[in-house]
Amino acid sequence: MEKDFEVGLNMINLSGKEAIVTGAGSGIGRGICSVLALAGANVLVTDISGKGAEDTLKHCGYGDKFRARQMDVTNENSIDEIISEHIKDRKKIDILVNNAGIIGSEGWSNREIPNSQDWTEVYEVNVRGVVKVSERVSKEFQNQKRGKIINIASIAARQGSPDSPHYSTSKAAVVSWTQSHALQMAAYNVNVNAVCPGLIWTPIWESIARKRSQFGGSLETKGLEGKKLFDQTVKAWVPLQREQTPEDIGNMVAFLASDLAENITGQSINVDGGRFTN
Ligand code: NAP
Repeated sequence: MEKDFEVGLNMINLSGKEAIVTGAGSGIGRGICSVLALAGANVLVTDISGKGAEDTLKHCGYGDKFRARQMDVTNENSIDEIISEHIKDRKKIDILVNNAGIIGSEGWSNREIPNSQDWTEVYEVNVRGVVKVSERVSKEFQNQKRGKIINIASIAARQGSPDSPHYSTSKAAVVSWTQSHALQMAAYNVNVNAVCPGLIWTPIWESIARKRSQFGGSLETKGLEGKKLFDQTVKAWVPLQREQTPEDIGNMVAFLASDLAENITGQSINVDGGRFTN
């Protein structure tokens, strides 16, 4: 089926904008970088894995529109170094996308119930990581008196989860932080919004599938494996009967980063094929 979203992207003009995306070494982050560049932005691709960030550069092939740097969102020194270097080189930041996220600590998918390390690490990356990068970049946005922040939350924020309560709680916190930070930054002409992705087949979902294959879940998925389990979940949960893609999330990010979304702030928008309707 031919897609007409490129028509929409023609309206979304991010030419000359400077974007920074965290956790962009794979999955959704890579799709976000690709769409932002397609809409005209220059993109600083960052990830805890320097190699992952470099791979995104090669994979997307946007030449000098992309630069790659290693950046750990849990480490204030790492964040400050990369943001300061970016400002020195490019003079401004227009768009921050807080995409980095994890589902658990080492071995999470082999535990039926998350342990204390899962809670701690997921909180550090998914919540504190978003806050730390946002606060550092917001200093620049306060000086510039403009900017856009887009946080990648999840539909896991919309409903509790029996096997990953630590993850759902962290994403609900991102939704709440998005509201608070939008109110803090409104006086500086900065928009802060979140996107709640639905079901996207990435390494995070591979790990969820490994767990649900062993322990089951709210669906009859025990024994099913990998992509089959994922496809079954999509069939059962998504009214539009299709999975979402990294580029679907990138399209919403590009819209929220553009002038078209100037009067939208503090919102968390589901891109989930109709799974949640409020
Ligand atoms: P992914 O492919 O695992 O991407 C997450 C990226 O974040 C990885 O490249 C990971 O690097 C990186 N990362 C981990 N810890 C980091 C840190 N401390 N600092 C910087 N980068 C770090 O998973 P994804 O599915 O694309 O997830 C992207 C975002 O979407 C996450 O926030 C996730 O919670 C959210 N989300 C995903 C889905 C879905 O269905 N996939 C649905 C809703 C929301 P390593 O691989 O090297 O650890």
